[in-house]
Amino acid sequence: MLSSIFGQTVRGMRDFLPEDARRLRFIERIARETAELYGYDEVITPTIEYYNLLAAKIGEENRKRMYVFEDLGGRKVALRPEFTASIARLVATKLRSAPKPLRLFSVGSLYRYDEPQFGRYREFWQANFELFGSALPEADAEIISLMDVFLKKIGLDGYSFKIGHVGVLRGVFSDEGIDEDKQNSIMQRLDKKEWEEAIKLLKESGSSRKCLNTLKGLLKTSGKDPPCIIKKMREIVKEYPGAIEAVENLNEIIDLLRSGGVETEILIEAGFARGLEYYTGAIFEVYVPEMDIALGGGGRYDKLVELFGGGKIPGVGVAMGMDRLSLALKKHGSTIHISAPTKLLVVPVERSLLGEAFKTASMLRESGFCVEIETMGRSVSRALSDADRRGIAFTVIIGPREIKEGKVVLRHMAERKQITVDLSELPEKISQVCQC
Ligand code: AMP
Repeated sequence: MLSSIFGQTVRGMRDFLPEDARRLRFIERIARETAELYGYDEVITPTIEYYNLLAAKIGEENRKRMYVFEDLGGRKVALRPEFTASIARLVATKLRSAPKPLRLFSVGSLYRYDEPQFGRYREFWQANFELFGSALPEADAEIISLMDVFLKKIGLDGYSFKIGHVGVLRGVFSDEGIDEDKQNSIMQRLDKKEWEEAIKLLKESGSSRKCLNTLKGLLKTSGKDPPCIIKKMREIVKEYPGAIEAVENLNEIIDLLRSGGVETEILIEAGFARGLEYYTGAIFEVYVPEMDIALGGGGRYDKLVELFGGGKIPGVGVAMGMDRLSLALKKHGSTIHISAPTKLLVVPVERSLLGEAFKTASMLRESGFCVEIETMGRSVSRALSDADRRGIAFTVIIGPREIKEGKVVLRHMAERKQITVDLSELPEKISQVCQC
């Protein structure tokens, strides 16, 4: 009975074997490099937070999927399902008086009781970038351009952005006097593409025929020619001032992206909504044609910090789903930067030479090589065939005669050639062979 429990991970949880772990850490490294390039400072927040903080604006669907429990002190806590609430908490409290704009980066694992399937797990990873303090379109454009650079740097191409603006729909609904709770329910349906349901909810809220037609019109409006779609959106919402403002804001963001050199395909969807409830402005996601799930997503949220008691500090951010990026890289067959480093194995001919083997290995590691030592007590020939099997590039054989003369044998595994080398010249010799 116990063995059946010990033999498996909890549903939705995964082990990362070396190749997958390496790919995930590669994505993390590039995310951190991108953060540095754009001036985003890393912050590390706890995996467990108060339930009320995390649940405040996460949206009905995500709220149902949180891992919630009471700790031994009786506090109602949850595993974080996303980063933004924690980061906004920081900005509302410890970083409240930090000079703006404030650019913050975080990376880590998150937890949602989603139905496990391809690209959807209960523990998953995100690289998260947030910019606080500016409500201007240049802040949104910076986040989208950062996302573009990050995707290029990890080696993805052929992806496209889907962009919308919750201010358009909310502008229409607010002008019609629909309260926020009702708006949230409608947005949740739209996020799940349950359009009929959304229209039904709108009807039930007693909205006008004009409002219903506007929603239907927006739901039909999408396309890859932003100026044309923006024009159509202007026409559809022309009687709703709040929505017009949102369309103009969307237009400015896209103009900035294009004039700033972002050439990635942009699909505008006028009826686009996202599950998280805190969005107030532009929202975006990124897709590759091979997968119909978003690789990342984000948007503008200008009221979250204020909700957490931190004053009127606008924010915009994006969360890149590292697991899905990893899947996309795998599909692209991109192994260039992710392959394991060149490895060396040091093999003593007899156990009495283990000390020399340890010293040689340390010297090589200090020179920057990745070095293993034969620790299974195998003969040289068995150690060499094992090294072959595991793709080790070089072996360094420590023999009694050679070591007395300050020398070792360096063997190039693939070429099956070996030379005797002065220990002091060993790092240089390996580098020379590595380069050719
Ligand atoms: P969200 O926090 O919902 O805006 O999601 C941002 C990104 O996180 C998505 O585009 C996905 O790439 C990733 N993501 C969200 N939920 C999951 C999940 N259950 N499993 C794997 N990745 C996820």
